[in-house]
Amino acid sequence: MKTHAIGIVSLIFVSGIATPLSTQERPPIIDMHLHADLPPHEVPPGAPALCRPEPCRGEGRATASHDETLQKTLAAMKRYNIVKGFVSGVDLDIVQQWVEAAPDRFIASPFILQPGRPDLEMLRREYAAGRLRGMGEIATQLSGLPPNDPALEPYFALAEQRDVPVLIHTLGIGPYLPAFRSAAGSPVLLEEVLVRHPKLRLFVENAGYPYRGEMIAMMTQYPQLHADVSTISWVIPRAAFYDYLEALVRAGLGKRLMFGSDQMRWPEKIGEAIGAIEQAPFLTADQKRDILYHNAARFLRLEHGHD
Ligand SMILES: [Zn+2]
Repeated sequence: MKTHAIGIVSLIFVSGIATPLSTQERPPIIDMHLHADLPPHEVPPGAPALCRPEPCRGEGRATASHDETLQKTLAAMKRYNIVKGFVSGVDLDIVQQWVEAAPDRFIASPFILQPGRPDLEMLRREYAAGRLRGMGEIATQLSGLPPNDPALEPYFALAEQRDVPVLIHTLGIGPYLPAFRSAAGSPVLLEEVLVRHPKLRLFVENAGYPYRGEMIAMMTQYPQLHADVSTISWVIPRAAFYDYLEALVRAGLGKRLMFGSDQMRWPEKIGEAIGAIEQAPFLTADQKRDILYHNAARFLRLEHGHD
């Protein structure tokens, strides 16, 4: 895959003479958490972004269509030099539209809200054909189903067999849905899955927020386990995000944390999420590059590095 350099040339007019002020190229970024269509809660066009905990006010305006989400996400990817994106969707036709809009840019993946959809035979076919290359977000916690529920077992077995990266929503917070259960999101519930599938390439959304001790235990005990820092980079107070991120880095996990935006219907959150990492006062320049690019490149086994 080629990197497309984004040269930004600012022109300043002094006495009518155009002078190039700066040419800058951003280093590459990998976004491990994008959505092609928003599951399953309805968001009206223009609605402010999610925020937690309430009372609080989210910024941004929800897109009006799936195409607008795609176009604005592509624009943000170009602007910030995001060279790869892990994108999931309930509607796989929409996911394929993303792939067609930017070939080689996306890792296409099914959003799984309940076991059985999509069914395993269909997934097997899509992996064999190379149309899908990831699994998840597995979001069965939104229906109260914990990750160690036997109904998910064949999905993990298939992902391990096909050697595809798997994103799972296993944390304390999520959308306000009647069946959602924080208790079904403790990262320690991943333990049986990790023991049964030692080769599974699993990463946990939001690094299990706010189950800090549980997540540190799982990642320390199971070296294959990775995490993204996605929604919490913009949905909770910045101080709470930094507190959590710093704890994970101080626990020695900085090489297995990956950037994600979880942009949903607010593609402007991509830039905000990048800013949250870039501005973190406790991270070194190398640690920021690890989170924004290198850790995901290693996890995804990208053949050609970008920096
Ligand atoms: Zn998500």
